Amino acid sequence: MIYNFSAGPATVYKEALSEVQESFLDFMHHGAHIGYSLVESSHRSAIYDELHNNAINILKTLLGLDDTYTVLLLAGGASLQFAMLPYNFLLSSSKPTLASYYKTGAWANTAIRNANTVLTSHQNNTDLQNAEIDIVYDGSPHNFTTLPDTKEISFNEHSTYVHLTSNETIEGIQWKTFPDTGTIPLVADMSSDILSRRISTKQFSLMYAGAQKNIGIAGVTVVIIKNEFLNSAYTQLPDYLSYQVHANKNSLFNTPPVFSIWVLERVLNHIQSLGGVSAVEALNTQKADTLYDFIDQSNGFYYSPVQDKAVRSCMNVVFKIHDESLEPIFIKQATQEGLVGLKGHRSVGGLRASIYNAMSLEGVQALCSFMNMFASQHG
Ligand code: PMP
Repeated sequence: MIYNFSAGPATVYKEALSEVQESFLDFMHHGAHIGYSLVESSHRSAIYDELHNNAINILKTLLGLDDTYTVLLLAGGASLQFAMLPYNFLLSSSKPTLASYYKTGAWANTAIRNANTVLTSHQNNTDLQNAEIDIVYDGSPHNFTTLPDTKEISFNEHSTYVHLTSNETIEGIQWKTFPDTGTIPLVADMSSDILSRRISTKQFSLMYAGAQKNIGIAGVTVVIIKNEFLNSAYTQLPDYLSYQVHANKNSLFNTPPVFSIWVLERVLNHIQSLGGVSAVEALNTQKADTLYDFIDQSNGFYYSPVQDKAVRSCMNVVFKIHDESLEPIFIKQATQEGLVGLKGHRSVGGLRASIYNAMSLEGVQALCSFMNMFASQHG
């Protein structure tokens, strides 16, 4: 038995993968084979259309959203969203704009860097009004191991949007409640914790996430936008960069990543059959508690660099060994035991167990037993 703790692409529900496998060569549609694969079907066909809309509808149901929101299924990863967001909401020919960003870790930082690039590349365009980026919080002095008090930060009333990263995949920190931004649209990169817990989704004007951690495989990125916000987007953009172009065509403006959307649809269907987000959340909490408790009770052999327990991520459990020189040996032995993907991100080192939705409690328990054995051998 292999347990895969990779940060993404990551472990996927086997049920969803088997359904795709069984139907891969000859797609099964309402109990009958169609004679060829879905990946050979036109994205304009009725068969594909049904699956595409099913994925969108289940996603809306699971997120508890109604028709005041539009779901887009795009390519380009969350990385493209780092640019699309400022292109659509920071460029404006009618008014000066300002976007507020929380700098909480490596991924928030990448979002900020891209927003700045969009601005600097347009600063000589006299048709556009001045735009600015406002960093409302900077966690770098704490090595991104904590998050701000949501009540402490005030926003510039002229902000076009406020951006945050709901879970910092590399540092292993996660917002548990979100700031109240009043009438200013709140935007979140939810790449590493979408559909892993109940949150009040209606607080957000835009949420985006690559599918490859919690809801499927790489290739499709979900973008969920409040229609009111969508209607305010800047539109003088190349087609693919415009949210409105995709929304007007139900994400079928160009060929969508059909295979990734198929897997997404099966994973969402599986999450629904498990009992939806609350069921998934209950298991995720149990997994995270099991692992953090084990680390905290290891008499200092292992430790979490995230001392502020209130912000520890339930998805990416970052930890270290007191004697750092043991970490490469830990990774090697763990791999031999079938526990793979435990190396920390190269920028922070250490170890990381990513325990997304599809990781079982048994996987986390197997990891704890191994960690226990390793500590008694080397402690
Ligand atoms: N944001 C977060 C929080 C992430 O974890 C990642 C990927 N690890 C990204 C953005 C980038 O996503 P992609 O590779 O899909 O562009």
